[in-house]
Amino acid sequence: MFHFDRGLKLTRADLAVDFRRRQPRAFISHAHRDHMARHELALCTPETARLYHARLGERPVLEIPYRQPIDWGGLRLTTYPAGHCLGSAMLLAEDGETRLLYTGDFKLAASATAEQAELPPADVLVIESTYGAPRHRHVPRAEAIAQLLALVRDTLARGMTPVVHAYALGKAQEVTRLLTSAGIGVLQHKEVYAISQVYCRCGVDLGPFELFGGPPKDGHVVVVPPWRHRAGDCGRIRRPVTFAVTGWAGSPGGAWRLGVDHAIGLSDHADFDELLAAVARVNPRVVYCTHGPESFVWCLREAGYVAFPLGGGWLPLV
Ligand SMILES: [Zn+2]
Repeated sequence: MFHFDRGLKLTRADLAVDFRRRQPRAFISHAHRDHMARHELALCTPETARLYHARLGERPVLEIPYRQPIDWGGLRLTTYPAGHCLGSAMLLAEDGETRLLYTGDFKLAASATAEQAELPPADVLVIESTYGAPRHRHVPRAEAIAQLLALVRDTLARGMTPVVHAYALGKAQEVTRLLTSAGIGVLQHKEVYAISQVYCRCGVDLGPFELFGGPPKDGHVVVVPPWRHRAGDCGRIRRPVTFAVTGWAGSPGGAWRLGVDHAIGLSDHADFDELLAAVARVNPRVVYCTHGPESFVWCLREAGYVAFPLGGGWLPLV
């Protein structure tokens, strides 16, 4: 049903999945740059299509809304929410004999700005396993949010400016929504602001936020993509206190390693326990792991699954 060609390809439809190099036909699970290229034809959800156009320009797209199967290239293709960012999708491909589910980047926990993940049962599961080691367990989401809000409020009360480093697509909008829901004003770097406009056009309510364009107003948080602050892109911010919002916050010396004052463990990816829960929910005959430590393959085997690394060179064909 599939083969590996420096990436996953659905053989019958000759459909590349999340390729970074240009393809005649490619499925894009979500609009993060490491999952897409300027393809001749892209298949994706309508929300991802808008983000794809915003990032790489207008391109030919075949839209597949969530849970609305299409018959295409000899396969039945259905997308399901992946809970990672706006429009992020899992892809279920069926050829009449085998059901293959590709997760793309996903998380099971709720999100303020992305639809919660749904995992249909499948025979073959290709799973993104970034945090596939037992040491990767995120702090509970409610705890991370409470920590973020408490530290931001404390920073503002001391007359300083919180500067939150968050990926321009996804994390920055979720942080914005969490802050505005708590009554805290948000100013966004232009890169974040451009993506937020797409979120708003897709009907996602981010609350009141503005484009950052000079010395920040009192009582406001500035949200910037990682590195932009240090690149001098944010003008002169008086007494900045920096925050990183990432699943890597929990690793030893998180804030120091990320080069910020505070590291908040709010992730857009499933942690180790969620990965195992996802596999149990899909209940596949065979699992292929990608984008994660190879040790996750062994964890799955110890749990009784037939598991392989994707592209490991020793895959049985299914
Ligand atoms: Zn991603």
